Amino acid sequence: MPRRPYLSSRLQGFGTTVFSEMSALAVQTGALNLGQGFPDSDGPDEVKQAAIDAIFAGVNQYPPGPGTLDLRTAIAEHQKRFYNMSLNPADEVLVTAGATEALAAALLGLCETGDEVIAFDPTYDSYAAGIAMAGAVLKPVPLRPQADGTFGFDDEELRRAFTTRTRLIMLNTPHNPTGKVFTLSEMQLIAELCLERNVIAVTDEVYEHMVFDGSHIPLAGLPGMRDRTVTIGSAGKTFSFTGWKIGWATGPAPIISAVRTAKQFLTYVNGAPFQPAVAVGLRLGDSYFDQLLVQMVAKKELLCEKLEQAGFGVLAPQGTYFVTADISTVTTKKSLPFCMGLPEEAGVVAVPCSVFYSDDRMGQDHIRFCFAKSDAFLAEAGDRLIAAYG
Ligand code: PMP
Ligand code: GLN
Repeated sequence: MPRRPYLSSRLQGFGTTVFSEMSALAVQTGALNLGQGFPDSDGPDEVKQAAIDAIFAGVNQYPPGPGTLDLRTAIAEHQKRFYNMSLNPADEVLVTAGATEALAAALLGLCETGDEVIAFDPTYDSYAAGIAMAGAVLKPVPLRPQADGTFGFDDEELRRAFTTRTRLIMLNTPHNPTGKVFTLSEMQLIAELCLERNVIAVTDEVYEHMVFDGSHIPLAGLPGMRDRTVTIGSAGKTFSFTGWKIGWATGPAPIISAVRTAKQFLTYVNGAPFQPAVAVGLRLGDSYFDQLLVQMVAKKELLCEKLEQAGFGVLAPQGTYFVTADISTVTTKKSLPFCMGLPEEAGVVAVPCSVFYSDDRMGQDHIRFCFAKSDAFLAEAGDRLIAAYG
């Protein structure tokens, strides 16, 4: 009798995440890891201290299902302060185990089997898996490099992606892996189509404080969108505590209620002592958020300059802490084999962009570097790339 595969059909094709694979490769080879997106230094001391204090104060049992009221209040205050959006912490804010759980819970809580979910392609890797676990169908809308080095989409392709079966559109701005920041007019089109087609938007705004020109625009702030948008954020990115896994989803009560229903049975709750600490972070003065941005801009410039000197084409990001490099100027290899050989050739780890596309024939000339690293680390990694390819 043929043996049934252990992995369910829903998850066929989803192996180990590229980030774990590449970080393991970095450990194995001792190469400098610019692959997986995490900062190499911790966030603010006062936030760390608040977590330590909470542990010693006995904040170590299950927190309330939707998250502590204080953290939900701090999240609502943050949305008011930065975007002038009003949210009721009682039923419009949900604390999650990172943005990853918020995304999964939104998909599981809002989609029927066979529903279509539109997402811009390439996507952050958990999107396709989350859509598959929800039994939904990914409808990718390609983002393509434009003459000015930014990424753009075709309005008609987006329009055509909306069908009678579309339930959700997922928007990630600033966008991982491309570093694209969606413009107001692009977001107005998305909003117009959501309203016209009665589609819910899930916006992943984990890089909201890393927009290099202008300021972050939340989709929920566009006319008519508040009632149909789930907005997702993460302390991992905003406060450089990726291992704490505190994220959140905000939106209208009936939609958040659906997300919460799914979330209850994924983790139920998480990170009791980290919740008060993240509340401290969200209430930090503007200088914290300003400095984070200034630092990221400097790091972006440092790495982009080195990549250019090494001979790569550089698709300079408008946000996030990632930069896409075009490798076709330095190699005939495609992105995956190039990245597999990179630790040996240059002592550096990067991520092949092909893994982010629904069709892995795409992204073959592109690799992604993370620049949330110390200046010395970035300079050394850059110099190694220059020595190898420059
Ligand atoms: N969305 C995007 C676009 C990301 O880059 C990441 C990775 N941090 C996540 C979601 C997941 O965030 P978290 O670590 O908070 O689960
Ligand atoms: N978001 C990070 C990245 O894009 C990694 C998170 C993860 O490993 N799941 O690299």
